[in-house]
Amino acid sequence: MRKLELHWQILIGMLIGILFGFAMTYPQWGAGFVQDWINPFGTIFVKLLKLIAIPLILASLVKGISDLQDISKFKNIGLRTIATYIVTTVVAICIGLALVNLLKPGDGISDATIAQLTETYASDAGVTSKLEEASRQKEGGPLQFLVDMVPDNAFRAVSDNGLMLQVIFFTIFLGISMLLIGEKAARPLKEFFDALNDVVLKMVDLIMLTAPVAVFALLANVVVSSGDPDLLYALLKYSGVVVLGLAIMIVFYCVVVSVFTRYNPFTFLSRISPAQLLAFSTSSSAATLPVTMERVEEHIGVDKEVTSFVLPVGATINMDGTSLYQGVAAVFISQALGFELTLSGQLTIILTALLASIGSAAVPGAGMVMLVIVLESIGFPSDKLAIGLALIFAVDRPLDMMRTVVNVTGDATVSMLVAKSVGKLGKPHVQNWDDHLDEVLHKDKK
Ligand code: ASP
Repeated sequence: MRKLELHWQILIGMLIGILFGFAMTYPQWGAGFVQDWINPFGTIFVKLLKLIAIPLILASLVKGISDLQDISKFKNIGLRTIATYIVTTVVAICIGLALVNLLKPGDGISDATIAQLTETYASDAGVTSKLEEASRQKEGGPLQFLVDMVPDNAFRAVSDNGLMLQVIFFTIFLGISMLLIGEKAARPLKEFFDALNDVVLKMVDLIMLTAPVAVFALLANVVVSSGDPDLLYALLKYSGVVVLGLAIMIVFYCVVVSVFTRYNPFTFLSRISPAQLLAFSTSSSAATLPVTMERVEEHIGVDKEVTSFVLPVGATINMDGTSLYQGVAAVFISQALGFELTLSGQLTIILTALLASIGSAAVPGAGMVMLVIVLESIGFPSDKLAIGLALIFAVDRPLDMMRTVVNVTGDATVSMLVAKSVGKLGKPHVQNWDDHLDEVLHKDKK
């Protein structure tokens, strides 16, 4: 019997997880049961993905750079990547702003709903922790992000997933220095990283075998932990605008991919779908990164010289879905609370949402932290910030899941564009998890 393809298996796991989660909202012990006995399997899966993220970035980026043989090629890839990321992010914010101004989801929201949402969430730990986190992030000067990018201890950087840009900085420095000492002298180190890269990609295959079960656990937990359905309903129009914007972004990527790379957009989407489904289930582009890299490289055929730089950098700085959401949310909150937003305020949103998406961590809920900074930049009264966040908190998780899908799809799209522009978009070379299994199982018989 032909085995069901991975993305179908994952999709089935997700659906059963959602149904099971709903069923578990009925018995009184249901939510506790899911949190204690089901969710840990999802958490283990996310931890496994994060476990291999740093070794994968290290190994693949060193391999990518040292294969280049010419530093100017790297500069070329780097500049194209950053420029394309900025363009796609600005497009995303503009789509979000256009929709929210056109459809005005904040105007229809009643005072009673605002009062109810404020009462439920304004002093919720989820909201207050986001406000605190935002004020901590604001403390540095304008160039703080550059200072933060440079590690003062390579081992500390590689031991913290939150320091992804520092790891990228160190690895690029290492890779370039390897190029400069010449192929012969660098060979032992290069062979080490090449082998590490292959091993880590095999680990991705193995972890993905458990993905259908893991997404079942993750989604069941999301369902039992979600808020009051009546409040979710009150925010339907706002959520609808965000979802519409995100859907338009996916169409935008498909058009761009087919126009610039001549790749069939449906093939593109189906090949990266396991990464998208994981982005949806985990709400974290950082956790999804190993799978995104594997899919784009092995299943689409983008050369490692491109993916090894474009994707880890993209996971940290390119968040089209998040920035689109920040544009919609900032205007929605202003509309609902009667805060007058001028044209220059909207332009400020474009700039700050761009910077905020660069500064957002690739983890669940990060977009909401940076939203505080976007709101402050347009002069939103600080005493109303908690109320503003309370308005959108109830639907943040499902929207986070969807914007993470767009973030990951955006990274994959840009890696294809950059690869095409430098002649590095080749043929797929799929590796299966059991490629060498026979050799291992039948070693004795040889
Ligand atoms: N969860 C998103 C990501 O990891 C970030 C956010 O929008 O909160 O890409």
